[in-house]
Amino acid sequence: MAVTHSLGFPRIGARRELKQALEAYWTGKIGLSDLTEIGRQLRERHWTLQRRAGIDLVPVGDFAYYDQMLNMTVLLGAVPERFGIGHEPPGLDRYFELARGNQDQPAMEMTKWFDTNYHYIVPEFRRDTVFHLGAEWLFEEVGEAKALGLNVKPVLIGPLTYLFLGKAKDEGFDRLELLPRLLPVYAQILGRLEEQGVAWVQMDEPALVLDLPADWLAGYREAYRTLASGPKILLATYFESAADRAELMKTLPVSGLHIDAVAAPEQVSDFLDGYPSDKILSLGLIDGRNVWRTDLGRALALAETARAALGERLWIAPSCSLLHVPLDLEAESELDPEIKSWLAFAVQKLEELAILDKGLRLGVEAVRSELETQARALRERATSPKIHNPAVAARLEKLTEADFRRYSPFPERIPLQRERLRLPLFPTTTIGSFPQTPDIRKARADYRKGERSEAQYREIMRKAIREAVRKQEALGLDLLVHGEAERNDMVEYFAEQLEGFAVTRQGWVQSYGSRCVKPPIIVGDVSRPKPMTVEWIAYAQRQTRKPVKGMLTGPVTMLQWSFVRDDQPRAVTAFQIALAIRDEVGDLEQAGVAAIQIDEPAIREGLPLKRRDWDDYLDWAVKAFRLASSGVGDDTQIHTHMCYSEFGDILPAITDMDADVITIETSRSGMDLLAAFREFRYPNDIGPGVYDIHSPRVPNKEEMLRLLQKACEAISPERLWVNPDCGLKTRGWPEVEQALANMVEAAKMLRQRW
Ligand code: GLN
Ligand code: ZN
Repeated sequence: MAVTHSLGFPRIGARRELKQALEAYWTGKIGLSDLTEIGRQLRERHWTLQRRAGIDLVPVGDFAYYDQMLNMTVLLGAVPERFGIGHEPPGLDRYFELARGNQDQPAMEMTKWFDTNYHYIVPEFRRDTVFHLGAEWLFEEVGEAKALGLNVKPVLIGPLTYLFLGKAKDEGFDRLELLPRLLPVYAQILGRLEEQGVAWVQMDEPALVLDLPADWLAGYREAYRTLASGPKILLATYFESAADRAELMKTLPVSGLHIDAVAAPEQVSDFLDGYPSDKILSLGLIDGRNVWRTDLGRALALAETARAALGERLWIAPSCSLLHVPLDLEAESELDPEIKSWLAFAVQKLEELAILDKGLRLGVEAVRSELETQARALRERATSPKIHNPAVAARLEKLTEADFRRYSPFPERIPLQRERLRLPLFPTTTIGSFPQTPDIRKARADYRKGERSEAQYREIMRKAIREAVRKQEALGLDLLVHGEAERNDMVEYFAEQLEGFAVTRQGWVQSYGSRCVKPPIIVGDVSRPKPMTVEWIAYAQRQTRKPVKGMLTGPVTMLQWSFVRDDQPRAVTAFQIALAIRDEVGDLEQAGVAAIQIDEPAIREGLPLKRRDWDDYLDWAVKAFRLASSGVGDDTQIHTHMCYSEFGDILPAITDMDADVITIETSRSGMDLLAAFREFRYPNDIGPGVYDIHSPRVPNKEEMLRLLQKACEAISPERLWVNPDCGLKTRGWPEVEQALANMVEAAKMLRQRW
């Protein structure tokens, strides 16, 4: 009988209870015991739910009040010294300080977990970092689950992945050096778990799917040799193929391996080939990263092949933690029933796993009707007119080289644009959004609930736009924006208007801490039934003589922040979205808009996990942007924006995008990021952000002037723009006005010196 297990489960709660509780606690509305009680209830609810769905081994340790990597940092006693916490377990208040910063210390850094949209808190390592067993939460949670009579499998991030994902804070020091100091603490944790009667521990080692240097691979041998004596270890990889590491993994002294058979089904045969008889093999057969129903017939066939080789040593599971998908499809009462029949969220994925389990136990006949139902849904999806739009396919067919190219090269375009826009040297602008005030949010919520008419809602949005324009004029900004008041979210706003996208009401996925996102689902061929933004931008333009930028989200970002189709290459979907945006760009130009920004903050994070796949990705990602942006005349200025990224690797691709102006986030790096742009001789205009919008702190004009002067050393002055790091939607008006006033002053001072 195959053991069924799950690698992790969403923790935020069906109604985002954890989010509400965290935010209530942070603002002092509830106490610590209220918060921990809600945490306990959520764990219990999610464990029982998994158990009832037929999961034999439930994960423990995947719950976190903020982040599972931060939990590891605390468990391993690796809290950065700068917080002055010392050796005692930090407690939740100090834990939150690590994640969110305090009076004296900025928060620990946060970054994306592999190629997902989940962010983890990055461990900080120094040459003298030492580790010790630093907290009891894991053992307490194991106790909780055991008290409920559950068969538990604690989940830890393995030592190599933990070190690899951290950052060395001392120069010339390799964090791998810390491994010998780290392992005894892992051994101690495993020992404690063994005392609690734990039989299996899952060690997540997804770093194994990355391009790891040889000394790191050698580290795996050392680590797992040291940890071999405690409970049985299930070493888990996911998100990509670990086939390159199959030989290494098979010879590690662990009791089992988990591999992702959804992202990389072909690796199953690499592992089955000569699979050691002392190990179990867990196959991830249900997609933990996407929302489509599984082809159960195919998954069962794969599982049966594996079982023929492994017998009882086959385990089955979702491909990775279900953290990355929404909780329960049943909550979607407003979703088109046909589309709904194609989808599976976390709860439904466990049901699928139970069907596979039953099929393996009792034979295919026993699950015939379940397989049939599922197959019918998949067939209907494959042929549904909701998916296929022949006009979109025909348009893609007809594209030529010229559709991906502006008429003239940048040096010929830019003087025409400057003349049309009448911009001074060092033009000032902002990234798009202005504060989403409580009034704006409330109006939208009321409108959604039907408590406000569309006409009333639109008037409130127009008022917000008028005010934003008036404020920008008063501040003396050169290129204005409308402020994005009407947008709930930069992706969902467009998804709601585009054909081929579906949006959910409750499909929340944790992004970081208490923050959740609701990714739209790209269901079918994408097209634009009618203009999406023209009316708002044109309205804003009518309020002022200064030019107003059109504001759009780019094709790669739309793709990256949605659940994507699994029935065609991502590139094709990106091109379809690009065509829809191209139409919008064309309509904006027709309406007289002289500058149009197409945001692509997600270009860098879309990079595949393996370097060998980078060129292919960058090729189509750049083409998608060019397809979206190249239909305009030379004197229409195309802007793009990217948030903080390591740009070095992808500068050639960014250059190829050929946007007239790129604004980027740089202030936290003190303009250091620009060095790469200088070395690469990035040819077009750049606006390096001069103030950090993530912090409520208002920088003064001298500070911004200094940053600008530094920027002048890296970029020729006639190419330089002046703007904040990113959109201002999360900030309040008073600080925004103050900061922008200082920014405009700084630009004026710089102009005088030039
Ligand atoms: N135009 C968007 C805004 O200002 C850009 C947001 C982003 O870069 N993530 O909010
Ligand atoms: Zn940004």
